[in-house]
This record gives sequence, C-alpha cells and structure tokens, in this order.
Amino acid sequence: MPELPEVETVRRGLADRVVGRRVERVEVGRERVVRRTSREELIDGLSGATIMAANRRGKYLLLPLDSGDEVMIHLRMSGQVLHAAAGSARPAHTHVVMYLEDDTEVWFVDPRTFGEVVVFDPERVGEVLPELAGMGVDPVAEQFELRPFRAMLRSVRRALKPLLLDQHVIAGIGNIYADEILHRARLRPDRVASSLDSRATRRLHESVGSVLSEAIDAGGSTLSDAQYVDLMGAGGSFQNDHRVYARAGERCVSCGRGWIRRTVLGGRSTHFCSVCQR
Ligand SMILES: [Zn+2]
Repeated sequence: MPELPEVETVRRGLADRVVGRRVERVEVGRERVVRRTSREELIDGLSGATIMAANRRGKYLLLPLDSGDEVMIHLRMSGQVLHAAAGSARPAHTHVVMYLEDDTEVWFVDPRTFGEVVVFDPERVGEVLPELAGMGVDPVAEQFELRPFRAMLRSVRRALKPLLLDQHVIAGIGNIYADEILHRARLRPDRVASSLDSRATRRLHESVGSVLSEAIDAGGSTLSDAQYVDLMGAGGSFQNDHRVYARAGERCVSCGRGWIRRTVLGGRSTHFCSVCQR
C-alpha cells in the first residue's frame, strides 16, 4: 500500500508535468472510484478546470483547481496515477481518464478499486472528507517539531507501532515505514510510548524524518506483490534499503547479531530485531 514517500513521489511528478494544464474532458469507467460523490460530480467539477498546484497531506493528494474546488486522489491499496501521451495504450483497470489541453492524459488505474478520486469544495471538507479535517501532522509537508512530539509520546500509554500508524497522530506512515522507522530508532514496536526517555524520543523523531526523506529520494518502495509506480510508470528503489520489513528470518544488517522476527501487533504484520531494538 502506498505510504507517504510513494504518494509524495506521485505528487512531485504531478507538480512537474500536470500543474498549470487545463483538463478538457474527463471519462469515468467504474463508478466505485467516485463513490464518495458521483460520476457526474467528478466530470462537471474537472471539465474545463486548470490544475493550479499539487499538494499532499499524509496519503492524500490534493490538487486545487482554478474554479476554487479541489481534486482529492487516494491510492489506497493498489491505485496508480499515470501520465502519458494522448492515445497511448492504457493499462487494464483504468477507471478515470483526464484529457489535458497539451495532448496528454492523466489516468487513475486501480485493479482493486479501493482508491478514490473526488472533486470537492474545500469549504465543505468536513462533510465530504471528514478524515482530512482530523488528520495529524504531516512530517514532511509540515513543521514536525520535537517538542510537541515529545509531549504527545509522554501523554500516551500506547505501543509505538500502532501510534505511528494512527493518522490522527502523524499523517502518512503505514506498515512498511513504521517498521523501518522503529528499527532505525532502535525501539521495539511494542514499546510503550510514555516509557521513552529524551534520548530515545530524539532518535525516534530523527528516524521519522530520515527514513521518510531517504525513501522519497529513492522514489518510494515497490514491493514484489504491489503495483506502486510513479507518474511515468517507474518503480521506486527504497525496498532495497529495507532493513526489517519483509526480511523475517534474515540476519539483522544493523547489529549483525540478531535475526529479524515477524510478529503481529495491532492486527498488522510487524518486523523487528529483538537484539538492537529495545
Ligand atoms: Zn539488530
């Protein structure tokens, strides 16, 4: 499932190649991808509009239009946003096609159709997209400061892994990056947040920033079983730098002594080294 680094990579592609272009017309195939509103609302809201910017909050892509509305795209499990020359052969499961004025097309492709494309009025965001209104700090797009992070950790008796996955606390971290961040911070996924001393808190804060920014630099992670690709269809390479995720049974490359273990925490598969993560 695409997480912050993958969605950020798609956002950068849209900023480079699509922002400033006018959408001439729109086609919607499967209605499930526009379930939040309707096929007509997406077509009416996008046709003739110019995309003014490409923003992101957590795993949500947000594209303001010159009409004052915004497009929200969420990739969920298997969504892709692709940009291609007009008339190019489209992959199976292309559910939305935006025809741009410069003879290019933006496609929303999603085999499993959990993803979504919505046009909404930002003044009605609480109604249409209530989860956006309640979202926590985005550690890349916004100021992610140590002091409020430390205060939050001290106040909760929750295990670190589910806390990092909670989009109301920090936006954009999913299962892969939570495991990699905790490994780099040398903290066990089931460690209780309020038990961290100030040095451990600092390590965790630094790891959130460094793991996510390195993953963005690598274009995200493309796993063997997932379909994540960037706007031009290329995969990322950060999966080669994963130290724990999907490496159960391998020797820990960080400490050289432990073995990577897989467990289930809060219903999610979790990978860690019991020697160097405490
Ligand atoms: Zn280790």
